Amino acid sequence: MDLTELPVNIAIIGGGFCGIVTAVHLLRHNKTGIHLHIINKGPAFGKGVAYDPHTCSLLLNVPNGRMSAFADKPDDFIDWLNANYPNQDNSPTTFSTRRQYGEYLLETWNEALNNIPLCNSVTVYDDLADNITEIDDVLQIHLRQHPAIIADAVILATGNAKPRVPNGIHPSFTKSKHYFADPWKSPCITNTTDSDVLIIGNGLTTADTIIGLVENGYQQTIHSVSPHGYRLNPWVDDKAPYTAYSFSGLPSERISLYQLLKTFNKHRRIANNSGQSIYPLIDSLRPHIQRIWLHFTTREKQQFIRHLKPYWEKVRHRLPVDMHQKIDVLRKSGLFQPCKGSIISVKELNGVCEVVLNCSGELKTIRVSRIINCTGPDPDITRQGNALLNNLVQKETIIQGPCGMGINADHKTGRVIAAGNFHKTNLYVIGSNLKGVLWESTAVPELRVQAQNIAEVIINGIEVRRRHVVETA
Ligand SMILES: Cc1cc2nc3c(=O)[nH]c(=O)nc-3n(C[C@H](O)[C@H](O)[C@H](O)COP(=O)(O)OP(=O)(O)OC[C@H]3O[C@@H](n4cnc5c(N)ncnc54)[C@H](O)[C@@H]3O)c2cc1C
Repeated sequence: MDLTELPVNIAIIGGGFCGIVTAVHLLRHNKTGIHLHIINKGPAFGKGVAYDPHTCSLLLNVPNGRMSAFADKPDDFIDWLNANYPNQDNSPTTFSTRRQYGEYLLETWNEALNNIPLCNSVTVYDDLADNITEIDDVLQIHLRQHPAIIADAVILATGNAKPRVPNGIHPSFTKSKHYFADPWKSPCITNTTDSDVLIIGNGLTTADTIIGLVENGYQQTIHSVSPHGYRLNPWVDDKAPYTAYSFSGLPSERISLYQLLKTFNKHRRIANNSGQSIYPLIDSLRPHIQRIWLHFTTREKQQFIRHLKPYWEKVRHRLPVDMHQKIDVLRKSGLFQPCKGSIISVKELNGVCEVVLNCSGELKTIRVSRIINCTGPDPDITRQGNALLNNLVQKETIIQGPCGMGINADHKTGRVIAAGNFHKTNLYVIGSNLKGVLWESTAVPELRVQAQNIAEVIINGIEVRRRHVVETA
């Protein structure tokens, strides 16, 4: 019996980095025939919001040397840069533009399509998946504009959700023309007036928005507000690196939050006292953070989120030095005024918004023409406004992950764990919706590993299934 005569349909919902890199692995490594269906509605196919930015100068926030789409080919991105942009510095420690990375992904995808083994095929749907129903062992995916697709396995690669409505913003104000809910779309940085702007948040998206506004000719004051104030750090600081301790040799057994903090604080203090940079300490911890998180108790996870998340994000999400310098110049000139505090009230008056801020205990009233929500992707699947996820939650096909973040799934295989601890064998999740399970599930270095793992699990599953069919035929 010819194994390729047993058709296997695999659907990937989402055509950003995770969707297409998983697809490339499936197409490259499966030699016995699959029909791949990729359903994507939203930003440019293959690029997602991250790599189709509104402003061309925005840089990657991970250096070139760690941005290969493939864990087993670590130089792939640098080789591509050298072939396509030979006149720029493409060293592993520099940061290329996000647009270049988007080009790299699209070219990687096109190359995979051109080299598909004859037994495999791909259909891409520019459509929204609304629901999935289960019929015996197969899944039926309902699309807005196309007939339903029947699939043996489905991968949820739905990616970055819009930020949640922040504290201080009344739900009725979210419909105002002054409120910009999606910071990754170009309307938030174009057609500005000569009034000030308020950004909610003080992280990497805030930096992108400031640079986008300024590069579009905006010259008024940009205010920002967040509970922890200005917290953008450059990727490298000018202090000597602290190298007396590294987490790289961390034992594989459980480490409690208390032990972790004790070790970290001890070395942080020594580094601070001697005027050295703790970045090497943070960077050495990063590769272990998923494993540490997996071993934390629920209480430890909650404590980490409550007390340490802002600090961890401040030191872990850092800006390329060039971008950091641009923001710093604006801050020093007063054109960028970050506030550590919260929004007290927002009133629309004669075409502008009057906003009262509480900045470290002091009330400050500003008048702005727009308020841009840059608080980062919302990890709560019930608030993401994604009809597909809402429908799946309602039927308990998926449930929220630990600490209410993302989707509950098996950390090794990405298989969805539904209500009643039921491990699904045909529904997978990848990307930022694994945040509750893994904590760090955002950047390319961890996502490329997930993409490869899920593809391998699915391919192995297909082979086992086919052998079973052949043996019992
Ligand atoms: C602005 C920004 C910059 C970043 N920069 C970096 C960086 O420099 N380096 C780094 O390592 N990481 C970076 N990241 C992290 C980034 O999240 C990942 O690198 C990666 O882009 C995530 O890809 P994804 O496929 O999971 O999600 P996405 O790129 O968001 O793709 C998901 C796609 O699925 C679609 N979709 C969702 N639901 C449905 C549905 N029901 N039906 C059909 N389609 C659907 C969406 O519209 C979207 O097109 C950045 C993130 C952001 C937001």
